[in-house]
Amino acid sequence: MSTQAETLEFQAEAQQLLQLMVHSIYSNKDVFLRELIANASDALDKLRLEAFRDKDLEVDTSDLHIAIEVDREQRTLTVRDNGIGMSRDDVVSLIGTIAKSGTGELLRKLKEASDAAANELIGQFGVGFYSTFMVADEVTLVTRRAGESTATRWSSTGQGTYTIETVEEAPQGTSVTLRLKPEDAEDHLHDYTDEWRIRHIVQRYSDFITWPIRMEVETR
Ligand code: ADP
Ligand code: MG
Repeated sequence: MSTQAETLEFQAEAQQLLQLMVHSIYSNKDVFLRELIANASDALDKLRLEAFRDKDLEVDTSDLHIAIEVDREQRTLTVRDNGIGMSRDDVVSLIGTIAKSGTGELLRKLKEASDAAANELIGQFGVGFYSTFMVADEVTLVTRRAGESTATRWSSTGQGTYTIETVEEAPQGTSVTLRLKPEDAEDHLHDYTDEWRIRHIVQRYSDFITWPIRMEVETR
């Protein structure tokens, strides 16, 4: 059961950043995975801290981890965590807008930058969750905040709007599923359904992450 999906607009600045991602002028698309894993890791840190502070919080902290799931046939990649999760309001304010200070400045710099300089900037600052739109033509996020009973499903093609709905059942934490762009299918370097490619990127960019990162592979 779920409530009717609502369609909302991204904040103007968020739309500008999204456009830059959708048209991915950056050569190093791999950083999207670094960003998703960093967010998952932050969410696990937050849950551990909150569970420590609030002993009444009903959460299972026995197996905190990050899971990466690839479906070659469907061409999807999912990054999942059982961390703090987000409420519906969190999703609207955190994912629908750019709350980060400094992003406005980054945006201005990006617009003026050459491709090489843009790559440098993205690598340095990261553009967070929106970097998923470099490799995905649709991104779906399902999340349930620790201690809350209902979950939220968010989905967007990165074209100005997103849909959001309340769903009854979802595991605590967040899963982000990317529908990978079809144009990258024939491109080895950008084949994010390739287990070894993913392992390589994780090792390269997320080696310092202290939470377990598990890889689940569909074998057909
Ligand atoms: P940043 O991580 O620099 O704040 P992002 O664009 O990567 O920027 O993410 C925006 C916000 O969305 C995060 O600060 C966090 O509050 C929320 N968020 C993103 N991914 C997750 C996740 N997996 N679990 C919980 N919250 C998340
Ligand atoms: Mg982030």
